[in-house]
Amino acid sequence: MSETPTDERDVVRIDFGFRRELAEKIEGNLAGFCYQCGACVGDCPATTYGTTFNPREVMLKVLYGLGSELLTEDSVLWHCTNCYNCHERCPQEVKPVEVIISLKNMLADKGFYPGPVEKVIKTFETTGRTTPQSAATDRQRERFGLPPLAPVPMDEIRKLIE
Ligand code: SF4
Ligand code: SF4
Repeated sequence: MSETPTDERDVVRIDFGFRRELAEKIEGNLAGFCYQCGACVGDCPATTYGTTFNPREVMLKVLYGLGSELLTEDSVLWHCTNCYNCHERCPQEVKPVEVIISLKNMLADKGFYPGPVEKVIKTFETTGRTTPQSAATDRQRERFGLPPLAPVPMDEIRKLIE
């Protein structure tokens, strides 16, 4: 019996280089334990914005090593809010959010990040915080019985950034 010839369009070529690079960033091949159950999708707020973002699909692309589809200038990964719901849901302890954060770091290394993220980076570089603080912040904290925020050790932060 003759075998059906393979259609080139059906072949998935695993990019092992991308997988290795990602595994180094997250200290382990976390996505390798994903068995595609979809539990991470049910409670993911980022799937409800009418986008194509889906953490299970992200993990599948990681498994296939499809870095070229994930690390794009208009990457859908920025829709992830880092809420950690998927981390709590995953029965395999894949920590999808950690994988996604590492992918975001890879995007940032390439200079691919949206304007609002650039603003957060600049605020962090200048103040050591991700959101600007003002006298209003202190007043709000006082209202809730919280102490004023401690000063940020900027010298240490600059060294860490370097
Ligand atoms: S919940 Fe975990 S195992 Fe299931 S699809 Fe998501 S990452 Fe994979
Ligand atoms: S951390 Fe990201 S991927 Fe995970 S549930 Fe929250 S928004 Fe979805």
